Amino acid sequence: MAVNYVPFAAVDMEQIDAVVVGSGFAGSVVARELAERGGKRVLIIEKRNHVGGNMYDCLDDAGILVHAYGPHIFHTNNQRAYDYLGRFTNWRTYQHEVLADWHGTYIPVPFNKNSMEIVFGPEKAQRLIEKMIETFGDERKVTITELRAQEDPELAEVADFVYQNVFLYYTQKQWGLTPEEVDPSVTARVPVFISRDNRYFQDAFQGMPGEGYTALFLQMLDHPNISVALETEAESVMGLEFESEAEDAGLSAITLKDRPFEGPIIYTGPLDELFLARFGRLPYRSLDFVYETYDEEMKFPVGTVNFTVSEDYTRITEFKHLTGQVAPNTTIMKEYSRAYEDPRTQIPYYAIINPENNAHYQRYRQLTETLPNFYPLGRLAEYRYYNMDAIVALALNLADELLA
Ligand code: FAD
Ligand code: UDP
Repeated sequence: MAVNYVPFAAVDMEQIDAVVVGSGFAGSVVARELAERGGKRVLIIEKRNHVGGNMYDCLDDAGILVHAYGPHIFHTNNQRAYDYLGRFTNWRTYQHEVLADWHGTYIPVPFNKNSMEIVFGPEKAQRLIEKMIETFGDERKVTITELRAQEDPELAEVADFVYQNVFLYYTQKQWGLTPEEVDPSVTARVPVFISRDNRYFQDAFQGMPGEGYTALFLQMLDHPNISVALETEAESVMGLEFESEAEDAGLSAITLKDRPFEGPIIYTGPLDELFLARFGRLPYRSLDFVYETYDEEMKFPVGTVNFTVSEDYTRITEFKHLTGQVAPNTTIMKEYSRAYEDPRTQIPYYAIINPENNAHYQRYRQLTETLPNFYPLGRLAEYRYYNMDAIVALALNLADELLA
């Protein structure tokens, strides 16, 4: 068996029970569930020339397995999401570690007790650690916002150091904004951790798909009830019908091949694109990736190095740490964050969460709420900052709902 790829032109819509736009985790998990548990014939429409969404990985020219749309490490406390993916892959045990390059010295991120010793020296660090434990408790995570709110001068010194040396420049590069200007939930993803645990994530389950993400997706989508039309943009094959001519009138139907499609439509792309940006484009950050291959076994001590006080790029990922691949050479990837200006040449990677943008998004979302068979799902369609496990869990819930 293999994935059933079909040209969109050859699809008979009479033979399709559900349409899914996008083949990342949101689209692929729902497609598999509807196909397998519900016996539905599912058509996936995917604009790229491959499945897997932003998790897609492939061998580069040097034979190293690299991620094409940013480094992806799976971590979760959600047993159902973990078990579900385990049907389509074995797991390589991997605990991700990140170091900040601080003027040429490596310090663990999240900033922790070990980082404090490197930065402040053992004696002073001991005193500061005791103060942190007294105030917050041991093995606790504290956001930079919480830490900066402390009045104690010693805690203020730690807060100031972390703010200036871990968050400020990195956040400016990543978002074009200061840490105060981004939504607090964004910097809260990377707390200060009163611990000796150097891992980036503390979730119960962490790992990488044994054969890579693309192999996982090929397994998931290999089902007789699923067909996939690649290089097909939803906007170019879907006709939108509205309740009236008014600008804010809701959808009344979506047509495919000139007929209203009555089955569920699960849409995982950006909503502003579906509506041809009629209310203006939603703001996102985009990324450029620069890959470099070296004739040495490893370049860095850990999977990711964050450049928190220098360089134009935010971070470097060395894939062999993540994948466990054994090779005499290695490929690293530098990430440059950019404003998202041109949907034809750029990819929307990060929604920029703030009240104004959320309201902008809601205006689009309302257009879909009049169409009972339309389901926006995923980090683009919901304009949210979701990790992979959250998307898998939401997709399983939506499938439950559709099959109930
Ligand atoms: P996507 O993976 O983006 O899939 C959407 C799919 O829809 C794409 O294939 C796209 O081509 C297709 N599509 C879009 N519009 C259309 C259209 N109009 N017509 C047809 N097809 C369309 N999460 C983690 O848990 N761990 C990590 O380490 C991690 N690292 C990340 C690193 C970066 C740089 C980024 C940006 C995100 C990272 N994430 C990580 C989050 C993860 O990428 C998302 O949770 C995941 O991609 C969400 O899946 P999705 O299906 O919603 O979206
Ligand atoms: N962040 C930072 N310095 C770091 C790591 C993270 O300033 O060394 C901030 C930055 O604003 C970033 C956010 O914390 O966008 C979330 O970081 P995370 O590593 O979770 O980002 P992602 O992997 O999703 O890009």
